[in-house]
This record gives sequence, structure tokens and C-alpha cells, in this order.
Amino acid sequence: MIIVLPALLLMAGLLAGGETTVSNETTAPPQTAQSAIPAELKDRLKRELAAKYGEAQRARIERGIEQAAGLWRADDGSPEAFAAFARDNFIADPAALSENFQHFQYAFEQLGGYLNEMGRELRHWTDLDVGPLLPIDRIFAAYDPGAHLIEDLFSNKAGFIVLLNFPVTTLEERLKEGGKWSRRQWAEARLAQQFSKRVPAEVNQKISTASAEGESYIAEYNIWMHHLVDSQGQRLFPSGLRLISHWNLRDELKADYNDPKALAKQHMIAKVMERIVTQRIPKAVINNPRVDWEPFANTVRPAPKEEIETVGQASLPAKDEQAGMPVPQPEPDTRYAHLLATFQAVRLADPFSPSMPTHIARRFEEGRELPEARVEQLFKDVLGSPLAGRVAALIEQRLGRKLEPFDIWYNGFQPRGRYQEAELDAMVAKKYPNVAAYQADIPRLLTGLGFTPERAKYLAARIVVDPSRGAGHAMPALRRGDKPHLRTRFEKGGMNYKGYNIAVHEMGHNVEQVFSLYNVDHTLLAGVPNTAFTEALAFVFQARDLELLGLAKPDAESERLRVLNDFWMTYEICGPALVDMAVWHWMYDHPQATAAQLREATVAISKDIWNRYYAPVFGRRDVVLPGVYSHMVNLMMYLPDYPLGHLIAFQIEEQIKKGKSLGEEFERMTSYGSVAPDLWMEHATGRPVSAQPLLRATEAALK
Ligand SMILES: [Zn+2]
Repeated sequence: MIIVLPALLLMAGLLAGGETTVSNETTAPPQTAQSAIPAELKDRLKRELAAKYGEAQRARIERGIEQAAGLWRADDGSPEAFAAFARDNFIADPAALSENFQHFQYAFEQLGGYLNEMGRELRHWTDLDVGPLLPIDRIFAAYDPGAHLIEDLFSNKAGFIVLLNFPVTTLEERLKEGGKWSRRQWAEARLAQQFSKRVPAEVNQKISTASAEGESYIAEYNIWMHHLVDSQGQRLFPSGLRLISHWNLRDELKADYNDPKALAKQHMIAKVMERIVTQRIPKAVINNPRVDWEPFANTVRPAPKEEIETVGQASLPAKDEQAGMPVPQPEPDTRYAHLLATFQAVRLADPFSPSMPTHIARRFEEGRELPEARVEQLFKDVLGSPLAGRVAALIEQRLGRKLEPFDIWYNGFQPRGRYQEAELDAMVAKKYPNVAAYQADIPRLLTGLGFTPERAKYLAARIVVDPSRGAGHAMPALRRGDKPHLRTRFEKGGMNYKGYNIAVHEMGHNVEQVFSLYNVDHTLLAGVPNTAFTEALAFVFQARDLELLGLAKPDAESERLRVLNDFWMTYEICGPALVDMAVWHWMYDHPQATAAQLREATVAISKDIWNRYYAPVFGRRDVVLPGVYSHMVNLMMYLPDYPLGHLIAFQIEEQIKKGKSLGEEFERMTSYGSVAPDLWMEHATGRPVSAQPLLRATEAALK
């Protein structure tokens, strides 16, 4: 993963209306953002400036006046003040415009770069394993020095100068015209994009609150597995196993393939998931080790005393909810109330985002820069592929039974590791007893991946390794002169294999971050098109971690299994991504809906997607499992990024295998900067973003 601080996501135009956040007191119709500038004045100014600067400037003048007037509020100044501002700040002379562009670019690199650095250093104690945490560290960590940057730039009029002089483009324009644009035009588009909306702080706050509330709801949503009983009252799962929905439930289901009681356990987990989606789950069984639950008959009774587990930090429901009632009270659509609340909150930003007036538009046009219809088509290319049936047949063969709906999470293609984890741990700990040892080894790791010694040295000098408190992450630099940071865990006895595997992944991020900042021709274009690209590039490194330890390359058979595993995972996650998208459309179509209505709609949508794409392969209808992902509750349509990431990773990997060397290809690709995804991919591989490389590799793996 990478961590970019919120203010800078905003600067990079990545934050779709405040990406975090659910509070449902907002059923009133959204507030409207009315321009404080009368139409008559805008027309007069357009005529006046066109007369002054000539017809050749008319299109620029009209666009600039509309853009600046569109976001000008009464507290920015009177209409007369706006007129004076426009007269004083419209730049007609191309040389002067060019100079202004350079100064904006320089200032934004410094602002972004130093704010990022400040944020990083304020999180020094919380992010790094450098000593005990003090209460004050959490305050510093939560403080975002760039939180008010964009609003400040509107207030001091810098943002309005941008709007008056540089075009705010729509995604449609960037896609249609972008191929013919100069690099400077792309950089101008990125500059203006940062001021394409002006969401009031109180709206952003409501969005953050809604998302944070959804997040804490999910964070507490555990199932105590030992308290699931079958119709005979048998407990299938060991005591102490507390699984968070949906991540742990799914991972347990995957791990159970190797269990003698696989089928019974997996059926039970799938039933639990179904009850969560339909909200027929008894409220009393959520995060509660004091009751037993039989999920098929859906009955609850108090757990025998000797089976009650220590609950540690888990918060328990009030006593009266724990009793054994013959008809247990279902969870009262809380899951959907949270989802609805995020919708109601982000919708408040719509009127302040004139060029992307819905959250759906902002997600696709701003965050991903791929039109929704195209993303949908990519997923349908995978879901509708006849290869799914062929892979399914192979899975049936390997399992020796007909497929069950939960086999959508089949993981038996994953090649068994040739090395024991303990063996690897020992090897890694010896190699990397501390941070300095990994830092010193970076040039060797990079030449091992295929970078020239000169490039490896150049990169190693620009990456700082830190001991991480959490699992690990990469933190980019946003200003030339600053360095990306690689964070991974070092245990007492040195690094373990898991930490090493993460370090290699993060190093992939860091190398991309160095090239995409230091090598791009305009710093306004620093980066890659979107998150899916970032992750795909890091996976290129991570997939080679064992080779870098001097262990054998994967053989043809394990490579074949890896491809089949990737195909099945992509096929699986395309469904939930389509559910996420369809549910957001339904909410926009039914803004007055209740949580119960949203639940009915989500269940119907999940079944519909299942029936269309999975039922023909699984021979079973009306399954709701595609609706179980917890991301849907608070992350506001994040799920499509997963399948996109898989597809992009395949495309990049295919090109790297074709190229002369990994080092050369990686540098060439990542030095191109943040243009539209298809343009980036055409430059990288000669083709737009496509599902074909994954499908081709799967076809070959089936032979
Ligand atoms: Zn990552």
C-alpha cells in the first residue's frame, strides 16, 4: 500500500469529494451553490475583454469567465470586485501565460512537497517503531497541515487566477483530445483540475464523519466462530476464533479447503455471509461470545457458561440483548443505514462540483479517469468470458465435487511454497538484522531485478528505509530534493519473511515514486494515472521476492497455477465491483430511500449480478454473496479498483516480459507521469487498458 496524506490527494485531484467517511441527519435536499455573479455581468465582461484582446482570445475569455464566476461566492467579493479581478488577472500574452504557468508549477511542487514532508514528520512517532507512543503523538498524527490549502488558495485568489486562465477539462475532453495534447497542455489540465470544485469545509466534515462512523461499525463487526453450532449443536470452529466480516470470514473459508471438515465449515461461513447481506443475522450474535447461533435455522440461545470466551477488548451488547429468544431480533438494517448515510453526505458535495455533479462521476472521472461504461465493459469481458466455465470445470475436477457458490473463493491453485516459512524467516533475519542492512542491500536488490548498476545506485540514494510500527507502507516524496520512504517491520531478531515480502512490494512503489517525480518533464504530471497502476507496479517487484533471495525462479507449473489463481480472483471480484456500482446508481435514483429499501435493492442487485454471470457456471441461482464486501459500507465505491488492479498488473507484467530488461521497461513506463490511463498504457505497452492480457494468459494456462 501507499500512504498519501489527504491534503495532497486533494492537490493531486485524487480525492473524490473527501474520500473518507456517515451521519444520517441530512435528509434535507442538498444545499445549492449559487454563483454570486449575475449572467448579465459575465456577458458584459466577455464582450469587454474580447474587444480588448481580440477575437483570437474569445474562447479562452469565455471559458475563463465562466469557470471563475462559477465558484465565486458572495464572501469572495461583490460582482464589481469580480469584474475588477477579471480585468486585472486575465493573461492574454502567451509568453506571460507561460511564465505564470511555470511559477504555478514551481509553487505547487513546493507546497505539495513540504506539506507532505510536514505530515510525514508529524507522524514520525506513530508510523515508526522508534519508541513508546505518547498521547500527543496521536494528535500530531491526526493533524493535517494541508487541510485548508485549496480553500486558502481560493481565498487569496490564486485559485481564481488559475480558473480565469487555464481550462478545467472534463474527462470526455481529456480522453477525446488528450492524445493530441502537448505535455504542457496535460500539465495545465492537472493544474486547473485542482480547482474544479470547491466543497465547503462543513460538507467535507460531514463526509468524513459519515465514513468514519461506517468504518467503526465495520471494525466491530466480528463473528465468534466457536459459537456457531450446526443442527446437531456441534461446534465446528475452535474457541477464541473471532473473525471480522467480511475479510476474516472469507480468509477462513479459503483456509478451510485443507480441513477435513471443509464442506461443513464453508457452508456455515457462506450462510453467515448471506445473513449479513440480507440482514437476517440476529443482532445478538454480532461481536458477542455469550450466545450460540445456529445460522441455518437462525436460532440463538445463551452459550453454556464453560464455552463463554474471554472477550478482551471486544465491546459487548447490553445484557438484555444476549438472552435466548425464540425469534431473535434481526440486525435492524444498520449496514444499509451506514451506506445510506455516506451517500447522503457525499451528495452534499454535488452542487459544489459543477463539472462532475455526482459522486459516481467524481469517482470515475477524477479518481480513476476511466469512464464508468468502459470500466463496466472491462469487468464484463472477464465475467462473460467462456474461460470462466473452463476454469470452473478444472476446479470441480481438483475438488472432486460439483461447485458450491462459495467456491468463488477457491484458492487451491495457489502453488504450495517449496520453502517453509520458518526456513525463509531464518534466511531473511540473517540477511537483514536491521534497517541499515536492508538499506545497504538496495543496490544489489535492484540490479538483481534488472536495473543497471548506475540506475540502482541512483535509486538507492533516493529511497530511505524506516522501521515500521504497522505492517508497512511506502510514502512518496512530492518535491524534488525530498525522498520516498520505505517502511517495513524489523522484529527483535531481524526482519522476517513477511516483512521482507512487504519491503520488496514497497520498494516497487518507491522506485516508481522516484522515477515518476524526478524523471517527468513537468512536476504537475508527477505520479501514475491511478491507484490501480501504483499497486500493479509494486506487484511486479513483489512477485520476484524469492528470486532476489537467491532461491529458484518459479517453474512453469507454478507459473501456470499462479495465472489460473489470478484469473479466478479477478473473476470473483468483478461481481462485487459491479454490485457496488449498481447500488450507487440505485441510491442516486432513489435519494429518499430508507435503509430497508436499500437492503432490498442491494439483495436484488446482488442476485441479479450472480444470476447473470455466475449462475451459468455454478448452476445455482439467487446467491447474494457478491454483496458481502464490507468496503461497500463506508468506502464509497472503492471496489472497482481491485479488478482494475488485477487487469493492469497483467498488462504491465506481459510488457515487462517482452521488454529488454525489467529495469529499462520499468523506468520507461514510470517516467511518463500522470496522464489518462489509456494514454499511459498505450505509451507503456502499445495498447489501451484491456482485459486481454489476463484472458490470453489464462487461455494459455488452460492448455
Ligand atoms: Zn501497495
